[in-house]
Amino acid sequence: MRSKPKKRLGQNFLLDRNILNKIVAALDLRAQDVVLEIGAGRGELTALIAPRVSKVLAVEIDAELVPELAENLKIYPNVRIINADILRLDLKKRIPAGNRKIKVIGNIPYYISSPIMARIFKYHKLISSAYITVQKEFAVRVAATAGNKDYGSLSCWTQFYSEPRILFSISKNCFFPRPKVDSSLLALRFRNKPLLAKVLERKFFKITRAAFNQRRKTLRNSLSEVASRAALEAYFKKYSFDPDIRPEKLRPQDFINLAKELK
Ligand code: SAH
Repeated sequence: MRSKPKKRLGQNFLLDRNILNKIVAALDLRAQDVVLEIGAGRGELTALIAPRVSKVLAVEIDAELVPELAENLKIYPNVRIINADILRLDLKKRIPAGNRKIKVIGNIPYYISSPIMARIFKYHKLISSAYITVQKEFAVRVAATAGNKDYGSLSCWTQFYSEPRILFSISKNCFFPRPKVDSSLLALRFRNKPLLAKVLERKFFKITRAAFNQRRKTLRNSLSEVASRAALEAYFKKYSFDPDIRPEKLRPQDFINLAKELK
């Protein structure tokens, strides 16, 4: 028997055949690919991916859905169902060592979009790209560039690890049950290396958070908590920056320079 969709788990199943096919076409799948699917649900997407790749790890948190998922996917021996919470799963243990990097795919629950991104960035070394459906406005914030009103710490954070692109939007009518908002398919091409050495990573995030926490403050003021006045002045001079600039004018690269320079 089919279990009833659970709101608390963000279960909005993608049923529209055209969109499912459009997503699969956008994934640029190769026969050698190892795919990690987050939130496989009943396996509608999984069944389209499996015949085109070498292996699919289908992660699904809801134990009640798993029998149906297994039934729908039983003709694909290359699918491994993992009944687990993606936010706790140790990917290093699940991905064969020395393998090519994996592709992450998922029509993921909106309410944990950020934690899921944090999770995949944690394992950035194992991943080549991610294709996730997220709330439309969230995708816009992720992909925004400097100078744009939607640009902020979410954009900087994502762009630190990856190059984001919004592929297309997906109407809320394509899902069952129908959510309140439209979605976008977001593609993240992971960088071979994040933009900064590990030791400076935390500083970068501290600076971007401080800068965007008070968007309307000038950089000189908002960064006074993370760096001395003298260091800031020296930086502004070196890079010929107007100290009264607003954070949204700074590109991720500028924040990287800040992280490197500010002691
Ligand atoms: N991919 C399917 C289902 C999308 S709905 C489709 O497109 O139709 C989102 C799915 O994510 C649900 O099946 C839900 O149970 C699952 N899910 C929610 N939280 C999760 C978590 N923390 N870890 C793994 N799966 C999760």
